[in-house]
Amino acid sequence: MEKVRLQKYMADAGVASRRKSEEMIASGHVRVNNKVVTEMGIKVDNSDKIEVDGMPLQEEKKRYILMYKPRGVITAVKDDKDRKVVTDLLEDDVRERVYPIGRLDYDTSGLLLLTNDGDFANHLMHPRYHVEKTYVAKIEGVLSTEEIRKLEGGIKLKGYTTSKARVKVMSKDKKKNSSIVRITIHEGHNHQVKNMFDAVGHKVEKLARESYAFLTLEGLVSGKYRDLTRQEVAELK
Ligand code: URA
Repeated sequence: MEKVRLQKYMADAGVASRRKSEEMIASGHVRVNNKVVTEMGIKVDNSDKIEVDGMPLQEEKKRYILMYKPRGVITAVKDDKDRKVVTDLLEDDVRERVYPIGRLDYDTSGLLLLTNDGDFANHLMHPRYHVEKTYVAKIEGVLSTEEIRKLEGGIKLKGYTTSKARVKVMSKDKKKNSSIVRITIHEGHNHQVKNMFDAVGHKVEKLARESYAFLTLEGLVSGKYRDLTRQEVAELK
């Protein structure tokens, strides 16, 4: 963890807002490593002992949440246009400041993880740690064998080439000129699945993520969430 200003550290730990934390510091309520600190500049991290009115600061409890994201919600904790964001779906049982790991598009539904554990999030998002993600896409048209081969073998997109993918056509509707396709990929670039289908000439009309590593949406309905079990967290680490 990088050192941060004491008032930010206090705010992040849920003591009070930054402004209020500054007031608490200025009025002598805060001790760092057994010394009262009243000036603002000081920077701290988890290795420092911080006390407010003699009470050691507790680190925020780590939360790991698996959410069934609905379509029409932004994968963010805040939106400048005040549209609904995924953290708006969390109820009072989640007081920790969790944020999404990676993102699903506004019009994509499905499995989304949220956490306040930065190391865990970084680990899962690291390009070298290739978590399998499976999506179900409704696409325009019907895939040819050659197009499936291209999707599976790796496609050159803007700035990167996709790694091997698995593609399974679930159903085709020739009359409506559409198909349902399951695709498993290992990276998580923005709009990756839509861009992959676009690259072989098929527009994605609807997209849902049904699994992430060994996790599925079983037992959840759209808009709801659950905590990961200890074992699930351990397996993802
Ligand atoms: N790929 C996309 O195109 N969109 C998503 O939301 C996720 C993967």
